[in-house]
Amino acid sequence: MIIAANWKMNLMHDEAKDLGLAFKELASKPPHTAVDIVIFPPALYAALVNEVTDISALSWGGQASHRQYQGAHTGDISAAMFASAGAKWQLAGHSERRTDHSESDDDIARQVQAGQKAGLHVMLCVGETLAQREAGNAINIVTNQISRALADDVDFAKLAIAYEPVWAIGTGKVAAPEDVAEMHQAIAAHLAALRSGKEEGRPAILYGGSVKAANAAALFALPYVDGALVGGASLKISEFAPIVQAAQMLVDAK
Ligand code: PEP
Repeated sequence: MIIAANWKMNLMHDEAKDLGLAFKELASKPPHTAVDIVIFPPALYAALVNEVTDISALSWGGQASHRQYQGAHTGDISAAMFASAGAKWQLAGHSERRTDHSESDDDIARQVQAGQKAGLHVMLCVGETLAQREAGNAINIVTNQISRALADDVDFAKLAIAYEPVWAIGTGKVAAPEDVAEMHQAIAAHLAALRSGKEEGRPAILYGGSVKAANAAALFALPYVDGALVGGASLKISEFAPIVQAAQMLVDAK
C-alpha cells in the first residue's frame, strides 16, 4: 500500500517543517512500517522534507517537473534536479496542472519519460470530469490518458497510477465504491494489455479525491485499490494518520 500526501501550494516554512517531523514519527513507529508514505511538498521545501525522509517507509517527490534536464526555463525545476536533491518520486498529470498550466498529454508523456530517465518513480494522475462521467465516457477517458502518457519503453516497475476523478478533488465528494471498483479494474486490465510481453508486475493503482479517515477503509477494501493520493487531509497529521492506519489494517488482514 502507498499513501501519498499532496501538500499542493500549502503550508509556510515552519509549518512544513513541523508536519514533516510528524510524518517521520508516524512512519517510524510500528505498526505503520508496512505502508509506504510519500510526501509531495512544495518544491521550496525539498531540503527540509529530504532531511526527515531518511527512513525506508517515508520518501518524497516533486509535484510537477519540467520535461528537460536543465536549461533556460525560468521558474521550472527538472526531474533530474528533484532526483539530485533526494526525491524518489514525481507526480505527473495532476488535474490542477492540466488545468492551471494547460499541460497537454504530450507534456505529461515527456514528464513521465524525464522522471524515469532521472531514476524516479512516477505517479501518473488520471481522471475524468463530471461531464465526461455523466456522458458515460469515464473509462475511455482514463484509459486513453494512460495510453497517451506512457511511451513504449516505459518502466512499469517505476510507475504508479493515481485515479482521481476531477470532480472529487478538494470537493468533499468521493466517487461511489462501485464506480471506484469498476475504474480500478479497468485500469488494471488496461495496464495488463500495455504490459503484455514485459516482465514487470502491475503498477500500484491509487485512488484520490477527498479521501479522509471516514472513507479510507471502505476504499482500501476494494479490489485493485493499492492506496491513496491525499490532498486536504494530508495537511494535518491528526487527519492523515488514521488514513495510514486504515491502510495498515488492510495489510495486516491480508
Ligand atoms: C489531490 O489533490 O490529489 C487530492 C486528491 O486532493 P483532495 O484529497 O483534497 O481531494
